[in-house]
Formats: sequence, C-alpha cells, structure tokens
Amino acid sequence: MSDPASFTPNLRGELRADEPMSSHVSWRAGGRARSFYRPADVLDLCEFMRTRDASEPLLFVGLGSNLLVRDGGFAGTVVFTHHTMIGVEVEAEVGTPRGTLAFRAGCGVPAPHLARFVAKHGAMGAEWMAGVPGTMGGALAMNAGCYGGETWNHVLSVETIDRSGTLRHRSAQDYEVGYRHVRLKAGVEEWFVSGVFGFQPGEEKAAMTHIKSLLQKRVASQPLNLPNAGSVFRNPDGDHAARLIESAGLKGFTIGGAQVSAKHANFIVNVGGASAADIESVVDHVHATVLAKTGVDLVREVRIVGARA
Ligand SMILES: Cc1cc2nc3c(=O)[nH]c(=O)nc-3n(C[C@H](O)[C@H](O)[C@H](O)COP(=O)(O)OP(=O)(O)OC[C@H]3O[C@@H](n4cnc5c(N)ncnc54)[C@H](O)[C@@H]3O)c2cc1C
Repeated sequence: MSDPASFTPNLRGELRADEPMSSHVSWRAGGRARSFYRPADVLDLCEFMRTRDASEPLLFVGLGSNLLVRDGGFAGTVVFTHHTMIGVEVEAEVGTPRGTLAFRAGCGVPAPHLARFVAKHGAMGAEWMAGVPGTMGGALAMNAGCYGGETWNHVLSVETIDRSGTLRHRSAQDYEVGYRHVRLKAGVEEWFVSGVFGFQPGEEKAAMTHIKSLLQKRVASQPLNLPNAGSVFRNPDGDHAARLIESAGLKGFTIGGAQVSAKHANFIVNVGGASAADIESVVDHVHATVLAKTGVDLVREVRIVGARA
C-alpha cells in the first residue's frame, strides 16, 4: 500500500494523512481517512493516480452528501474533488442532437451551480439540480435525480480516469443506468472527471422561477436545519420509503445522536454528536422494522464505507 506521507515532488495538490471525514460529509459524523488528496487539477490528478499502488483502496468524494465513513475509518486514499475540477462551460460537443445546448462541467462542480449556469445561458431542464447538495461527479455516480429529473437523462458524454491515470471519453451507452444506479458495462474501475450534459433551449426567467419554487418545496418538506444525507433508502416501485417508515411508527426513533426525522421519515438527522455507528444502527433498525411490519425490503441509497470501530 502507498505510504500516506510519500509525495512525489512534481505533485501540486494537497496531501494529508489521517483526515477526519466528518468534516467532509454532510452527516458531520464518522471516522478518518488514512490519506486524503485534493488534486490541483485534472493533470495533477493523473500524476497522483500513477503514484498509488494497485492495491490501495481509493474513494472519490465530492460534497459527501450521500456518504458515511464508519468510525474505524477508511484504510485507503480519499480523492477530494470539491473546490477543484470546477470548470463549467458551454460546449460545442460533436454529435449533440440538433436544438440541444451542451454544457461541460468538471466533477467538482456543485449541482446547484450547474443548474443556475444552465438557466443563465438560456436552457431549461436542470432546475431540479438546484436542490441536490452534491457535486456533478457524485450526481453521475449516483444518477441523482428528483422532481422528474435524472442526471443520466442529460449525459452526452463523460470523461473518466482509471488507476493508471489514463483519461477516457465515454458515451452514455457504455453504462448500465437505473434508479440511483450506474455501472460501467466493461466492469473496470474508473471515476468521473467531467461530463457533458444536454439541455433544451429555454428562458432564464422561467428557469429561475422554477428553481425558486422547487427549493421552497424542499424547505417545507425536508429537515435542512440538521446534518443529514438526504433520502437514506430508495423508493420502492410504486411507493415511498418515507411513507413506509412513517407507517411503521419510526418517526423520531433515536439511537445516540441519530434520529429518524419527524419532518421527513426517509431522512436520518444528526441531532448532536452522532457517531457513524449511531447512524448505521438507526439505518439497520429502520430496515428491519419496515421489513417485519410491511414485508418491503428497502434498499439503501446512501453509501457506507470503511471499518467499524
Ligand atoms: C439535504 C439533501 C437533499 C438531497 N436530495 C437529493 C435528491 O433530491 N436527489 C438525489 O438523487 N440525491 C439527493 N441527495 C443525495 C446527494 O446529494 C446526491 O446523491 C449527490 O449526487 C451526491 O453528490 P456528492 O458529491 O455529495 O457525492 P458523495 O456523497 O461525495 O459521494 C457519493 C458516491 O459517489 C461517489 N463519487 C463521488 N464523486 C465521484 C466521482 N467523481 N467519480 C466516481 N464516483 C464518485 C462516491 O465515491 C460515493 O460512492 C440529497 C442529500 C442531502 C444532504
């Protein structure tokens, strides 16, 4: 495994050892990463990838809004993309369908930023992204979506990087995509560096009004005043995880500092000092209770990595 302190002089990013991941995930809880790298840019990321041993576990992290690192920590390297690889531009992509406007966004671009950029450049269809508090790399990995919109409905192409630091252009056809599910058909390990997204022409004013009304809906229905990671479970076909959790009587269920939100039952909030174990115990309890009471086997949407303490 690569030594966390080892550093090639021509790298320009920021390398740290023993980084507390609670500072980088929206639940504000959990363990440490053995090493942490924030690349200066894409070329620096390519260089960095070449310095890692093939056996080194790698975890790309954007805004950590769908992620929990267990209290025992992540025994590998976290590559942090937020605050770096944040370029957004209008793109003249070859093969873009007629009438579609194309936008290139780096993997570290926050989805709300792309939503507003698209609106300001006379296109519509990205408004739903304004309330997703993650990066475009995370949105691509999760096929993030809401209010009828889904990330991969807009993908024209993506750029990826592999362990050897090789960059590749890939099309949407290279991926198996479903509800909160994305898999490279080739089955090899690659991460997203950027994406080109297509949207239809529209009016800035109408798009901004739409963004405002979608954000108001969120404020009214989600516990945004407490650390959380959005919806914990995927919605089962034809139903809502929140409805099932509420009907199982779990609103307000608490272990340590982790609680099933009274405002939105599919959110688990950190009411203060929650450990990753508290959060995961609540997740497990909700899963088991809903299964026992309703027969529905909920599938977790949030990603949980690392070792138990
Ligand atoms: C208040 C709130 C509301 C939310 N609402 C929604 C919603 O409406 N719809 C929705 O879909 N989600 C929602 N989420 C969840 C979350 O915001 C999305 O899943 C988002 O896309 C995650 O992006 P991120 O950058 O935070 O990813 P992270 O949490 O950092 O990572 C999530 C996963 O993506 C992987 N990943 C991150 N970057 C890359 C990359 N560059 N290449 C490859 N893999 C990568 C990580 O390894 C991890 O497995 C919400 C979360 C919160 C806190």
